[in-house]
Amino acid sequence: MIPDALPALESRIEILLHDPAASPADLHAALAVLYERYCLQEQMLARLIHISDKYQMAERERGLSHVEQLQRKVRQVEKIVRISDGYQSMLQDLHTRLTAISNHDDLTGLPNRRHMQERLKQTIAQAERNGDTVSIALVDIDFFKKINDSAGHAIGDVVLTRVAECMRQSMREYDICARWGGEEFLMLFPSCDLQNAAQLAERARAAVAKIPTDDLHAGLNLSVSIGYTEFRLGEAIDSTLKRADDALYCAKSSGRNCVIGSSASNE
Ligand code: GH3
Ligand code: MG
Ligand code: MG
Repeated sequence: MIPDALPALESRIEILLHDPAASPADLHAALAVLYERYCLQEQMLARLIHISDKYQMAERERGLSHVEQLQRKVRQVEKIVRISDGYQSMLQDLHTRLTAISNHDDLTGLPNRRHMQERLKQTIAQAERNGDTVSIALVDIDFFKKINDSAGHAIGDVVLTRVAECMRQSMREYDICARWGGEEFLMLFPSCDLQNAAQLAERARAAVAKIPTDDLHAGLNLSVSIGYTEFRLGEAIDSTLKRADDALYCAKSSGRNCVIGSSASNE
């Protein structure tokens, strides 16, 4: 038998309920069909709820795995950023060290000639702008060849480092001393006229003369000769250096272990 459509079944039950002549058996049969339909619908509903729950759970898991993937990506990016930061600071460090190496003398740790030339240019440019005085002093170790010959080259190197350290100690905070050549040093005195330069040069000479050398070689005499001069506004730095070199030559000719200045009037 083809089951009644639901509205038809409902109207049949309604008719039976209002028909005083209807037999309880007919009503029972109609209600039984309705109950059976109701049970079927219940089962279908339960299946639908089950399917919907499973679908929702799958969706949630998919959402979660997206979040996890995103978190993993964020962690990867953070790691890359950390590596890149480390790499950058390593490069920065390397750059700083390379700059320091290229600007300093290996043996003495003093600024080298190249670096000093830069500093000379800067200091003089500043002095030209401000009308400030600048002086320089050329320092040369006396009879250094003899020291090498008698005590050996290695001891000669130690002597150079001791003289360099002594120069460093005798300078003012803002003065600069560079290793200018083999056993020559150049001192730069910003804001310093010829008179002050004479004092600074003498202080350096006297300090070197006191450097202990007995532990290096018996009878080793250590001294320096110094030529100093003041920069003249408008002149080329080579002229200033030449004047200091001439003054140094005079100091050597005057018996060494002394300081000699050269001013404009000396020329
Ligand atoms: P003067 O008093 O006239 O300056 O005489 P000097 O012997 O000091 O000058 P000279 O120019 O004749 O000799 C300088 C010596 O310095 C020669 C060179 O072998 C030595 N010298 C240069 N650089 C170094 C160095 O780095 N280490 C050592 N041990 N010796 C060096
Ligand atoms: Mg020399
Ligand atoms: Mg010398």
